[in-house]
Amino acid sequence: KKRIVVKIGSSSLTSRNGEVSIQKLVRLVDEIALIKDAGHELILVSSGAVAAGYRKLGFIDRPSVLAEKQAAASIGQCLLMEAYSERFGSHGYIASQILITRSDFLDEKRYMNARNTIQVLLERGVVPIVNENDTITIKQLKFGDNDTLSAKVAGLVEADQLIILSDIDGLYDDNPSTNPDAKLLEVVHEITADIEAAAGGSASDVGTGGMSSKIEAVKISLAAGIETFIGDANKPNILVDAVNHTAKGTYFKPN
Ligand code: ADP
Repeated sequence: KKRIVVKIGSSSLTSRNGEVSIQKLVRLVDEIALIKDAGHELILVSSGAVAAGYRKLGFIDRPSVLAEKQAAASIGQCLLMEAYSERFGSHGYIASQILITRSDFLDEKRYMNARNTIQVLLERGVVPIVNENDTITIKQLKFGDNDTLSAKVAGLVEADQLIILSDIDGLYDDNPSTNPDAKLLEVVHEITADIEAAAGGSASDVGTGGMSSKIEAVKISLAAGIETFIGDANKPNILVDAVNHTAKGTYFKPN
């Protein structure tokens, strides 16, 4: 039995127009259900609250003003959880919501409390769904990724594996959207300066993290001794295959 943290980025949960895609969400949940059926414990770190909420708030395009984004997240978080709850329920699993801010990791009491709570949920077969508390957190929405959050959560629960799903099938030795000759790195033991340079900035405008924030996350998870995988959310069976180490992608292995 493994304890697995899965992080899904906004760009992997949204369709081209920037709205949350129920098909993509359903596919993800259906795969997670397979992992649960195999007896593993799983925590999902999901972005997508702003994407799920801005239309209902009356915006045609994703807003860029912070307060508007946060208002959209306030609506979207409910809608997102509703969709997750419903689909997990169809597999006989219960989803739970955990909203975290950075400061929760700095306070020992809150840290231990979060850990104990998640422990109870996992023991009872629940799928905790974690997100940054977007409505009140300023920094995170601005830099806007859950990558480092997912690594911190993996550390918090002492996960066996962290799986970061993106719109790309792993870490390349250069930005593949600008360099067609970039090569996929299959196994990485250490985040070197070269790797940091290769990760550069983000190319997608929905996801706000880019590869560099994933590399930041991997630094945290590797330091905690947690093996980490980055792969393509759109590949069928990606989660099951990542758990079995047969998926195409980048495997980061602690030394
Ligand atoms: P998500 O929304 O899934 O968190 P992002 O879209 O923000 O992910 O980041 C992934 C993107 O980062 C890729 O689609 C790619 O365009 C870009 N990128 C930049 N450098 C690299 C690299 N070295 N390897 C892979 N992807 C890279």
